[in-house]
This record gives sequence, structure tokens and C-alpha cells, in this order.
Amino acid sequence: MGNLPEKFIARMQKRLGSDFPAFLASYERPPYKGLRVNALKISPEDFAARAPFPLGERVPWEPTAFYTEEEKPGADVYHFAGLYYLQEPSAMVAAPLLGAGKGERVLDLCAAPGGKTTQLASDMGGTGVLIANEIDRKRAQILAENIARMGICNSAVMSASPQSLAVVFPAYFDKILVDAPCSGEGMFKKEENAIPAWSEGNVAMCAERQKGILDAAAEMLAGGGRLVYSTCTFAEEEDEWQAEAFLKRHPEFSLLAMKKLYPHEARGEGHFAVLFEKRDGERSARPSLRKCSSGRGFGADLSGAAKAWEVFAEDFFVRPPAGTLRAAGARLFLAGEELPALEHAQAAQIGVGVEAGEWDGKRFKPTHALAMAVKKGDVRRFVSLSREESERYLKGETVESDLPDGWCVVGVEEFPLGLGKIVGGVVKNHLPKWLRKYH
Ligand code: SAM
Repeated sequence: MGNLPEKFIARMQKRLGSDFPAFLASYERPPYKGLRVNALKISPEDFAARAPFPLGERVPWEPTAFYTEEEKPGADVYHFAGLYYLQEPSAMVAAPLLGAGKGERVLDLCAAPGGKTTQLASDMGGTGVLIANEIDRKRAQILAENIARMGICNSAVMSASPQSLAVVFPAYFDKILVDAPCSGEGMFKKEENAIPAWSEGNVAMCAERQKGILDAAAEMLAGGGRLVYSTCTFAEEEDEWQAEAFLKRHPEFSLLAMKKLYPHEARGEGHFAVLFEKRDGERSARPSLRKCSSGRGFGADLSGAAKAWEVFAEDFFVRPPAGTLRAAGARLFLAGEELPALEHAQAAQIGVGVEAGEWDGKRFKPTHALAMAVKKGDVRRFVSLSREESERYLKGETVESDLPDGWCVVGVEEFPLGLGKIVGGVVKNHLPKWLRKYH
């Protein structure tokens, strides 16, 4: 790779000394690729037994992940079914360091497109509360789509600045991940724009921004809670020095662990992660919603929608799922009671729980995310396709079924791919157009 910024090369040479030639040589090999199995849907062992392409070794720091050299691992039907997430292997180091546990309140503060959110969700096993926040609204939508594909039900997606989120959630979370926007020195191979965007000035700007994000995260962490700060850069201003400065500003925190993966030492493109713990102290019982401005959206009148949902759920599910129905305009969400009632924070909220459907005042129409969140045995009509047949469904074609008429979930083997509607043995395809193959 001949176009690395000169100043970057000089900085790395100074930092790495005799290791520098090995670091530079790492740019000559193709980037490592990783695949993380979605434990909410399948175990790594079961996935390995039916993997559609060769899997390499396990990623040492993430027990559910494998290396792969497959050219297009995202084109396989199992990817559409959310059985795995494609993630740069060294980026998988941060979430296990945080150790999100069952039943905890967890915040992923800089979450899109969702690599680490979906990893945290897998660790949480569908329990507790996972708030995934992304400041950029467009990227927050992509985050919501990835959360839906992976069948995650215990999350809320928000799009707010860390500072405004800190007003809502003071001392609320048990665990927080700050995967900060950074100068991306570990992304030079993967993202073409990372090289021209790099400058020492940008490193300094990123460091200043990260400081503000970390301070907001510190406010939101409950006493005794843990915080992981990570970047995909090697710059000390954003990594080690950032961590040191944070500890100086926040004596209530201590450092538990620090990891820096370099591409010449570990099988990954490079990542930094540090684990802090907050001294015992206050843990808020609930979010501080009084301080939020209210407006239209979540919390709309649900009387007609609730009845329509009931009728649909009775027909669709073997046993209607638990959860409270919440509305954001015409969109209906099914969320567990433990997810914070953010009716007044709707300006920042993209979704909560599972998007169940749309209600136009007359008719209820189920949503793709609902299909992705079910298990085969949950619904009355599950049209199970072979891998070959699934390709037809993914292209938007109809398939056949001898099940009774009505809304159904179409899946590859036992894993949901989306919705269909059976009429006289023909399954009308309801996979959203933007999710279709070759759309
Ligand atoms: N955690 C993500 C994953 O694993 O897929 C990657 C996150 S990326 C490294 C950092 C994110 O921070 C970007 O999506 C970016 O839009 C967001 N961001 C940018 N400026 C921000 C700010 N001032 N506060 C919080 N997040 C910001």
C-alpha cells in the first residue's frame, strides 16, 4: 500500500521502533474477514456443522466468531436470515471486554451500523435492556435494520447526541460501550476514504470529540458499573492518552484492562479497547423523562390498534407474545415492560422492542421485523424452504405451501426470512423490496 499519509508513517515509526517494518508489511496482505454467529438464533457449533462455505479458525477473543476467506459471505441466505454478522475480527474485542450480562441495562452509545450492538445482544441472551444510540439518523435506520435482521427484541434504537441522552439517563446503565468516532487508522485497508481524511488535525479533532462523548457516558453509568471505550485507530491522543485524561477528570473511575491489537501482532486490522469501572454509588430506578420535551409520536392513542393487533396475533401466533403495544404515528411496536417507557423522548427514538406492524386506522399490517423475531414453533404458519427454494423468495418470487390461508413466516429451514401471505396454496411474497436480492 503506497499511499499511506507520510505523517502517519512517521508517527507509527516513532511509536513502534523495531516493530515498524512488520507493521508496514501488514499492509501488503489482504484484510482479515470475520463472521460472528448470532447466538440468539444458532450456536456456533451448529452453524459450523451447516456452514455454506469454509470457515477458518475461531477468533481468539470472541468465542462465537470465525475467520473466513469467503469472497461474498453477505450474499448467502443464512446471512439474510440473521444467522451471522460480518465484522472485522479485531473490532470484536471490545464487547467481550465489557461482558454484558443477563438482565443488565446496557448502552451502546455510538452504535451504527450495529456490529457491537448485535454482539452485546447475543451476550445478553434476549434479557435486560439494550439501548442502541446513533447520532446520525440515517445510520440509526441501518442500525435498526441490522437489529431486526438479528431478531433482537430487548433493544430500543435512539438517535441523540450523547449529551442529550445523559439528561435522560443519569446513573442509569450497568454497562456502557463507547465505540467512538475516530481517525480510523485501522480502517485504511477497508475504507478508501479513511486515508485522504487522515491528518494530525483530524486526530486532534477526534480526540476532543471523544472527550465529550466519554464525559457524557460517565454521567450515564450507575455506581459500580463498567465502561468500555474503544477505537479503530492507533493514535495515542485517541487511545492511551485519552484513557489517562479520562481517569484524571473522573477519579470515581479506575482502569481494569487495556487492549491494543496491532495488525502485525494479532490477526485483525487493529483496535483499541479499555475497560473502566465506576466506584459504587447511585443507580437510578428509571430514566429521567421529566426533562425531555414532548411532542407527537410514541404514546399515540392505541385503542383501535390494540384490538386489531389482538385479532391478528390470535390468528398468527400459537400463543400471542407478551409485551406492551406502543405507537409512533402509524407504526406499532411490541416492547417488554422493562424497556424504558420513552413516550416523551420520541424525538430521539427510532424504535423500541420489535416493530410489529402498521395501523392506518382501519387495517393492521404486520412488519418484516416481527417475522425475523419469531421462532418456528411460535407461529401457526411457518413455510420452511430449502436453501435453493429460499433464493426464489429472496428474489421476490412467490413460493408454494399447502398450509391454510393467512399471514405466514417464510424461512430457510427453521430460520425466518420474512413474511408471506398464503392464498390457495400460493405464498405471496411480502419481503420488503429493499431487502430483496438483486432489487
Ligand atoms: N459501534 C459501531 C459498530 O460496531 O458497528 C461502529 C461505530 S463508529 C466507530 C462510530 C459512530 O459514532 C459512527 O456511526 C458515527 O456516526 C457516530 N458519531 C459521530 N459523531 C458522534 C458524536 N459526536 N457523538 C456520538 N456518536 C458520534
